[in-house]
Amino acid sequence: MSNWEIVKQHCDAHQAALVAVSKTRTIAEVMALYQKGQRIFGENRVQELLEKAPNLPDDIEWHLIGHLQTNKVKQILPKISCIHSLESIRLMEEIETQAAKLNKVISVLAQVHVAAEETKFGLSMLALTELLDRYTQGSFKHIKLIGIMGMASFTDNHDQIRAEFKSIQEIFQYVKNGYFIHQAFFKEISMGMSGDYLIALEEGSTMVRVGSLLFEK
Ligand SMILES: *Cc1c(COP(=O)(O)O)cnc(C)c1O
Repeated sequence: MSNWEIVKQHCDAHQAALVAVSKTRTIAEVMALYQKGQRIFGENRVQELLEKAPNLPDDIEWHLIGHLQTNKVKQILPKISCIHSLESIRLMEEIETQAAKLNKVISVLAQVHVAAEETKFGLSMLALTELLDRYTQGSFKHIKLIGIMGMASFTDNHDQIRAEFKSIQEIFQYVKNGYFIHQAFFKEISMGMSGDYLIALEEGSTMVRVGSLLFEK
């Protein structure tokens, strides 16, 4: 079995979606996974996604998983179906403005910061609640907030990784109960990468973002 098949089976067993992270990979490498049946691909840089997408099949669902600058929203929005990295009210407002112009409803996850490292992007709890208050009070008709995204620390310590995934799951529950209790679409937890996706699935991930492992020969 290929790594893709193994990861896919684990995801299926947990009813989680597999986002194949194709950053730095060639068109041929992406096509090889496409031919196995992979349809959701994730990129972390706007420019790379814009260059890649036109050379690949139309039925690929592109997710933006990395930091998104406000001034790039307009360019990228027509190409993608989901943004995992909502990190500010300002970005949310720009996404709404541009999505409205396209008459498009975009799925978005709020990225939270739980990892010990300070370099990771993501919202603090305070910033998250401010963003959610704004979202629920405002009229963001073109943004469907479907869940929470987070990353664990880059470490070999599985206990720490598990604890951080548990924190993301708790934040998801808190937001679900406090803001989206009657909104069935708020149901996604995007967590887990090549090194930790099995732990993430055990801790309730519904979307894993796996890159290097899938493309290893
Ligand atoms: C690169 C990346 C991944 C995938 O990482 P791998 O270790 O290659 O699986 C997942 N999420 C984000 C945000 C990334 O930038």
